[in-house]
Amino acid sequence: MSVAAPETGLKFLQCNGCGKLYVPPKYLCTQCDQDDFSEVFSKGAGEVYSFTIIRMPFEEFAEEAPYAFGEIKVNNENLVVPGRFTNEQEKAVKIGSRVSFVKRDGCINWFQLA
Ligand SMILES: [Zn+2]
Repeated sequence: MSVAAPETGLKFLQCNGCGKLYVPPKYLCTQCDQDDFSEVFSKGAGEVYSFTIIRMPFEEFAEEAPYAFGEIKVNNENLVVPGRFTNEQEKAVKIGSRVSFVKRDGCINWFQLA
């Protein structure tokens, strides 16, 4: 894993029993049945695995539409993380585009084109 500081990184959970990584939330390891996890943080570089353009969002996000939302396959961790892309880039997002993690805002991970 490309390790980042907690305040700047993309958060994963790592099973303290077997070391398997998960995208939070996770309450039970599907590999070893442990329920004990540690938070680990990645720099979050990866590529766009899938995406869609949201044109009719929930009311609280109405002023932000249209915007891109998708899944990012993070390098090395072999995990797919849901996330949003910075608004000004929604027309440029493509499957396979290289992206980097920007920040976590509430429960949303933000990415930008690399
Ligand atoms: Zn485990």
